[in-house]
Amino acid sequence: MKKKTLEDLNVKGKKVLVRVDFNVPIIDGVISDDNRIIQALPTINYLLEENAKVILLSHLGRIKSEADLAKNSLEPVAKRLQELLGKDVLFVNQTRGAELEAAINNMKESEVVMLQNTRYEDLDGKKESKNDPALGAYWASLGDVFVNDAFGTAHRSHASNVGIANCLEAAAGFLMEKELKYIGDTVDKPERPFVAILGGAKVSDKINVIENLLIKADKILIGGGMAYTFMKAQGHNIGTSLCENDKLELANTILAKANGKIILPVDVVVTKEFAEDAPFRATGYKGLKEDEMGLDIGPKTIKLFTKELKGAKTVVWNGPMGVFEFANFAKGTEAVCEVLANLKGARTIIGGGDSAAAAIQMGYRDKFTHISTGGGASLEFLEGKKLPGVESLNDQEECNCGSGCDCEHE
Ligand code: AMP
Repeated sequence: MKKKTLEDLNVKGKKVLVRVDFNVPIIDGVISDDNRIIQALPTINYLLEENAKVILLSHLGRIKSEADLAKNSLEPVAKRLQELLGKDVLFVNQTRGAELEAAINNMKESEVVMLQNTRYEDLDGKKESKNDPALGAYWASLGDVFVNDAFGTAHRSHASNVGIANCLEAAAGFLMEKELKYIGDTVDKPERPFVAILGGAKVSDKINVIENLLIKADKILIGGGMAYTFMKAQGHNIGTSLCENDKLELANTILAKANGKIILPVDVVVTKEFAEDAPFRATGYKGLKEDEMGLDIGPKTIKLFTKELKGAKTVVWNGPMGVFEFANFAKGTEAVCEVLANLKGARTIIGGGDSAAAAIQMGYRDKFTHISTGGGASLEFLEGKKLPGVESLNDQEECNCGSGCDCEHE
């Protein structure tokens, strides 16, 4: 059953609570990447055009003690949103109480109010993160309908997503809809060949993703730190490279099950020290010395992966190919960006997290079909799991057009 979306709701003149994911990196009060704010603009602008009163809720970082409050204030985000919207955003430095209620009651149509970080409520018994029902009900009481546009937290059951959705008519915002369409539909009904690319630090984080993609994808290219556990399991010397020794048996089981679907690197870029400016060289596995670690895929692997990606019609990518944070070890990740950017007629999806950050940092923001805003959420979605933030939304009503159509209200 499809979930209700923004256009299924009557929002005209209504107080619309919108859960956005404004969990953006802030360094010394300055937002270093506003992608998540930009991605939420279509939903907010649509609601403003529909004369709704827009009430925004988001978390930012983690709040474990009083010391975390000031550095995780949403105030700089409200300012940035105001600039992007070209319209006032009234920031209320509260998550509940008289001042907040008055601000909402005084709202006129097409105005925006933003609450303080929902996780400020975590200071008192983790009310937000443990989905305290009274908190969800309180926030729901502030609005008429609920829109969840925060894909990045859809894998969590929190008061500001599931709690509110349990009390109000609830629909997916445009960003949420886009994420579900691109990640969900792409994996479920891929145009073939469907190639998955997995990288990043650990195998253990992505075992379930590998298992699910083994069923759905035609090929899985594995790079990054996680490749070394597979390589060691196959009897190769990996020197001091990242390895999860307790996952060697599992790696071999996966490789056996994969029946040739998994493609591992054939060469790597190695160094003796985990440092930005450490001397480095490319080598095949046989040439890797005991005191060396692999921090990137090598040029032969880039060629091999390029060949495997040729003609792909669907590509899903999660996890960088190397330590892209160091320029000397970013070439593999950049090469994959370049290949995907030039794949003709292919649907290219990057799961959130570090591969998304790398692609954006390397200037490929607009070169993919979709870059997900959710790291953990996109991983769980790729594992085939149901996301509580999505499940808690209302189902679309059955189509009564009477013609036996399968229009699903599209
Ligand atoms: P993940 O969050 O699992 O996608 O991992 C991303 C992190 O993996 C990035 O910070 C990369 O620097 C790191 N990474 C990628 N390849 C390697 C490698 N060969 N050795 C160590 N770390 C790596």
